[in-house]
Amino acid sequence: MTWLDLPPDSLFGVANLPYGVFSGADGYPRAPRVGVRIGDSMLDLLSALADPVFGEPSLNAFMAQGRTRWSEVRAQITGLLTDESAGRHRRAVEAALYPLSGVRLHLPFAVGDYVDFYASEHHATNVGQLFRPGAEPLTPNWKHLPIGYHGRSGTIVLSGTPVTRPHGQRPGDSGPTFGPSRRLDFEAEVGFVVGAGSSSPVNVGEFPEHVFGVFLVNDWSARDIQAWESVPLGPFLAKSFATSISPWIVPLDALEHGRVSPPPRDPEPLPYLADTGQGGLDLALEVRLNGHLVSRPPFATMYWTPAQMLAHMTVNGASTRTGDVYASGTVSGPLKDQRGCLLELSWGGTEPLVLPDGSSRSFLEDGDEVTISATAPAAGGARIGFGAVTGRIVPARAVLAAGRVSGRPYWLSHRQPPPIGASSCGRACPRWSAARQGRS
Ligand code: MN
Repeated sequence: MTWLDLPPDSLFGVANLPYGVFSGADGYPRAPRVGVRIGDSMLDLLSALADPVFGEPSLNAFMAQGRTRWSEVRAQITGLLTDESAGRHRRAVEAALYPLSGVRLHLPFAVGDYVDFYASEHHATNVGQLFRPGAEPLTPNWKHLPIGYHGRSGTIVLSGTPVTRPHGQRPGDSGPTFGPSRRLDFEAEVGFVVGAGSSSPVNVGEFPEHVFGVFLVNDWSARDIQAWESVPLGPFLAKSFATSISPWIVPLDALEHGRVSPPPRDPEPLPYLADTGQGGLDLALEVRLNGHLVSRPPFATMYWTPAQMLAHMTVNGASTRTGDVYASGTVSGPLKDQRGCLLELSWGGTEPLVLPDGSSRSFLEDGDEVTISATAPAAGGARIGFGAVTGRIVPARAVLAAGRVSGRPYWLSHRQPPPIGASSCGRACPRWSAARQGRS
């Protein structure tokens, strides 16, 4: 039991202790540093544990220290926050607690490489039916390996960052047209961050030595762009414009009570992918669109486990580094209201979702806000929380016009500097000038 005054059903009690990076104004640390959430407070770990690794503006240095140190620190924090230490440590710990209301959260780690998987059989089956009607929904390789692709790590953004509707090629009857995506979607996913890197393949059993923690991911997807561009090499620009992650990294140690057996695998995977234990995680996701609950995807139904994903990702000898991220792929359960994206929920736009406010959605509209949250089982029937990843769609930028005016490129916006040598601004543009002189 903690000596802090927390409601007994708090999702952020001592059983959880997710990590985040924070700063704040007026009495808060000005420069971002590492903390742990307890209730509605942030425990400043630099103050509480006096270890400079927590004065870093990201979790990377701490994550790189490895499993033994992660467990030590968790035990120390638990000690500070529980009853028996109250007399000795309470005053010092209270001085290191900041109300979350004044906290500004930052991207919790510097992102290395990013892989996105496709590990839900229900999602893959639904998408196969929608994108390849008449064909076998699952490709012949699907039950032999966790399918994935390398994503774009530089566009991973923190929850709350606005998401601009992307431009791209949209398929049409008489060839593609260029413009803002008309089929913008979310994907409710679960992400994993590598703490301790590896230079050789990571066996399924070594997963806890390498993966530091778990968080929520929204893999924003432009379905029109995706359907046109992804044959035969898979997702490219349809998913690289933004991927949002939640600010709290839940350590693996907090998820001991959430471990479950994955669904039976048939056929048996190759030996390097054998994961016969409780490699699944019983996370209960919820997706809200403009505040309305639209789906409850169950992560326990995922066909491939996170340990299998990491084993597969490294089996060819690919190394991993601190900060590398991999995500599960859209989490969809067998039921209609367990589907983790609008493509499935609206069945390709043919069955628009009707929201409680009377509006309907096939895909996302400008101004729409998507929030994905999750909880997991803890001891004694309690639950722990992941917080949420949220993002609002803002209208497509007028990046460039479709054509040319008087033979010159016609730029509608200065947000993107024109190419070197372009001269259509008609007024001074500092970034452009700098670019022309080779200074940017
Ligand atoms: Mn995805």
